[in-house]
Amino acid sequence: MPPFSAPSLPDLKTRLKDLGACLVGFADLSRLPDEAVLHVFRRRLHDAPEKPAAALHGVSIAVAFAPEIVAGLGKGPTRAYYDAYHATNDRLDTLASHGARLLEEAGFAAWAQTRENVQARDTLNDYATRLPHKTVATLAGLGWVGKNALLVTRQFGAAIRLTSIVTDAPLPCDAPVSVSHCGTCAKCVDICPADALTNAHWQPGVTTTDDLVDTARCSIVAAALSKHNYGISFDICGKCFYVCPFTQKWLRRSTPGQSHECQRYAFVAAKPL
Ligand code: SF4
Ligand code: SF4
Repeated sequence: MPPFSAPSLPDLKTRLKDLGACLVGFADLSRLPDEAVLHVFRRRLHDAPEKPAAALHGVSIAVAFAPEIVAGLGKGPTRAYYDAYHATNDRLDTLASHGARLLEEAGFAAWAQTRENVQARDTLNDYATRLPHKTVATLAGLGWVGKNALLVTRQFGAAIRLTSIVTDAPLPCDAPVSVSHCGTCAKCVDICPADALTNAHWQPGVTTTDDLVDTARCSIVAAALSKHNYGISFDICGKCFYVCPFTQKWLRRSTPGQSHECQRYAFVAAKPL
């Protein structure tokens, strides 16, 4: 792969998609409502904060589950979903690390929000992180936060997982998504076996995850469902993204047994890059 340079910054999306990202967007993090978060990342990217007011940008990366995995979630979590969940997280960590390395090679500072990095530096409590991937994704225009408290995209519905990178590279930012497109739909709220979703509409900078979902309640019921369905107590459920009309629309467009083209690269992203 040829070296990556500053003039190639817009090509970062193509690079990441070539390695298995399904969606990539660039976010203007100056839009974050909490200046303190920016301050933390500025200090981190510039050890000696000689550039205290450096503009920070985010790279949002989404990987979609294979449609055949999602199609099996009508009765809740499956072993196949459990395996795909972990494989997708591994893949996202690899993509974020690789993207950060490309930015560093081009002369910029970058912080990959891998699970390891977030757990070490930015986990605020069991369910909250300093700069949620969902926040970066909405600012990067990938989608909105649905009533299911997940990112909902036009392309894959809510059947995705996310990671992100924080950088001082002057990325050409995408237009943020600033309104919910859930409308009067409440399918996720109605199907939730934990009665954990509040039916509230997301508003950027106003609504928190706590306003949308009782995460503790979701976690307990999802773990019980997983134990019942495939014998492992793990807090994933999937019902609220399976039922979403945007997910169902994607499933109808998908050929059973044939993954989206970005899935072809899974084996590449699973290896060290
Ligand atoms: S994952 Fe399951 S339990 Fe949790 S909010 Fe969604 S539908 Fe409810
Ligand atoms: S199921 Fe309906 S309310 Fe829930 S996230 Fe999808 S569009 Fe929004």
